[in-house]
Amino acid sequence: MSKVRSSSLGYPRIGGQREWKKNLEAFWAGKRSKTDFLQEQKSLRLSYLQKQQQLGLDLIPVGDFSDYDHVLDTAVAFGIVPERFAYAGGKVEEETYFAIARGTDDAVAAEMTKWFNTNYHYIVPELTASREPALVDNRWLRLYEEAKSELGINGKPVLLGPVSFVKLAKQYGNKSFSEHVQTLVPLYGQVLAELAQAGAPLIQVDEPILAGDVTEAEWAVVEETYQSLAKLAPNAKLLLQTYFESVADYNRFIQLPVAGLGFDFVAGKEETFQNLRVNGFPNDKLLALGVIDGRNIWRTDLTAVNAELKEVLQVVERERLILQPSSSLLHVPVTVQSEEKIADELKEAIAFADEKIIEIVSLAKVVNGHEPPSLLEASKHALGRLNASEARNNQSVQQEVAQISSEDPSRGLDAPTRAKLQAAKLKLPLLPTTTIGSFPQTKEIRKKRLDWRKGKLDSAGYETFINAEIDRWIAIQEQLGLDVLVHGEFERTDMVEFFGEKLGGFQFTTYGWVQSYGSRCVKPPIIYGDVYFKQPMTVKETVYAQSKTDKPVKGMLTGPVTIYNWSFPRADITEGEAVNQIALALRKEVLALEKHGIGVIQVDEPALREGLPLKRAKWQSYLDQSVTAFQLTVNQVKPETQIHTHMCYSDFQDIIEAIDGLDADVISIEMSRSHGELISSFEEYTYNKGIGLGVYDIHSPRVPAKEEIARNIERALNVLHPKQFWVNPDCGLKTRQEPETVAALKVMVEAAKEARQTL
Ligand code: GLN
Ligand code: ZN
Repeated sequence: MSKVRSSSLGYPRIGGQREWKKNLEAFWAGKRSKTDFLQEQKSLRLSYLQKQQQLGLDLIPVGDFSDYDHVLDTAVAFGIVPERFAYAGGKVEEETYFAIARGTDDAVAAEMTKWFNTNYHYIVPELTASREPALVDNRWLRLYEEAKSELGINGKPVLLGPVSFVKLAKQYGNKSFSEHVQTLVPLYGQVLAELAQAGAPLIQVDEPILAGDVTEAEWAVVEETYQSLAKLAPNAKLLLQTYFESVADYNRFIQLPVAGLGFDFVAGKEETFQNLRVNGFPNDKLLALGVIDGRNIWRTDLTAVNAELKEVLQVVERERLILQPSSSLLHVPVTVQSEEKIADELKEAIAFADEKIIEIVSLAKVVNGHEPPSLLEASKHALGRLNASEARNNQSVQQEVAQISSEDPSRGLDAPTRAKLQAAKLKLPLLPTTTIGSFPQTKEIRKKRLDWRKGKLDSAGYETFINAEIDRWIAIQEQLGLDVLVHGEFERTDMVEFFGEKLGGFQFTTYGWVQSYGSRCVKPPIIYGDVYFKQPMTVKETVYAQSKTDKPVKGMLTGPVTIYNWSFPRADITEGEAVNQIALALRKEVLALEKHGIGVIQVDEPALREGLPLKRAKWQSYLDQSVTAFQLTVNQVKPETQIHTHMCYSDFQDIIEAIDGLDADVISIEMSRSHGELISSFEEYTYNKGIGLGVYDIHSPRVPAKEEIARNIERALNVLHPKQFWVNPDCGLKTRQEPETVAALKVMVEAAKEARQTL
């Protein structure tokens, strides 16, 4: 049997019609019994496996299915439950599992954070020292056996490896990183031995941290861990899997004592390819190559991959090669077949999870000589048609982008000079007060929007309603005594969708959902063509708001980097080009606002930080490109027009130079959850433009006390000049209720006024 095998790393959980989400939410709401809930989860799980089997996949992943999150699954399998949740050992019940993920009245939920550089969020394990981890549920064995007995599938169990698991956890107590891993090794050993005993042909152990920056000490832990596991489970055939980047140290990685090694052959492909060519590959190991992009939604040019595989096959024989997606398919929607509103030319160039599996299977057939290479040509033609389409050949966009290189992206005058001109024009008091943009999105607002979208409410009626909300909130802001007002963003659902629907080059799907965290799914827009400005997007509401007040109204836009990072981007042009196209389109909006008399404009970039590459060596070029895109968006306004930006995080010490480089006149950032670390970054770094460090947390309905806000202002003024400090909440207020919002802003404005007295 000298043949290459097809495989996958994991399948979307949510279901083509979000059945999984609905099942979870019905159970949480008490509308579905636990038995029914578990039964439905099982039938979904089996249907996903069956689908993959029918599509012809050789190695079908099992155990990747989750009731919430795979990191949490791993924690509870080892009885790792935070102390604040009642747990007396043994298998963790569903109720406890969801309590950890979602919190209860008595115990706050475990923290959630981003899974590497994706938009998926995992539950951060807490390695409390009080209870020693133990294997309380070999879920991988359970799910492996289930697939075998119910469907006759001899699956490939998928586990999150011990080193990555500990690295992703919060480390508590006095144990070191390596001690935490050592504690888990015998438990993993048992899981692996039991799986091997049961007949698992191959076990995928994910160690994604090996594709980031790995320290010498961490490598030592990795080596020790896999040497121990080889002894504890000598019959288990481990496939050590990495993704999202090339491995940090190829030569060290390929020496690990495992049966196979998995590489992302899309991200960091050049490095991996180069390593294969130059350093070869051990002659006793399987090579699993992620040749199909598991994170983006385009078809792959399979003819090109096939040509590359010819070269790879000079390094390993066919029977040692496994073809697979570059990562779990968790990050893409289920199938493009359900999409009825996408034009054929585009639809044919898209591959969601099912289509990606078909690609892998087809490729394997051709490599094995079971099908002629012509089978692969369709993908190339579909991509070629899209590339040749008008949407991707917008001459005016391309000319504008081509001109950028000869353009000075800066604002011309320096920030201190601009600040003087702006001060003369805006006449703001010291410590000016403002908000981040959105006000509460009530049920009523959402209902009206839905009615309007469904045609139950006409555009005039909807506009009247939105204007009435703007009127009401302009009056509230004036009464509160805020200095720079906003219109409230009532017309927007989501920061990216709103702009994507109005710009050229974006496509929205009907069922293109991906899991963001728990049952929360998002539907990222697809950037498929050259992005261009069609008509003003925010001018009407902003100008309306400005007509109702003498105070300045701040225009509000989502920035190019955030729009890019929260979409499925094109793969045929570079990231820099794509983000600049968005920047140039947004620039027209900025200029339209200015032309209509808006003197303060905020360009939000909450996703700038999360787009940072996994390897530090690649940070600078990402940051340079992001800074340029931001600058291009705002560089043509007059010096007296004040440009703001906003970021939703406080850990920016390591990117402070880039943030300074944005050269925004005013930046607002979140502070309340940063425990003062943010403040101390200004002890070491002289930042001399306007800056608002959020003075209260908007994530809870709690109304802050005046003294708290006063203290936050005072702390900030220890390191920042009163002339540069702005007083604002941490972030937008759309998720809050009106009464608490008004109450909190009242306290904030009073605190700012009192602080002014002391200056
Ligand atoms: N202007 C947006 C708002 O206020 C900013 C949101 C964000 O940064 N995520 O909602
Ligand atoms: Zn924010």
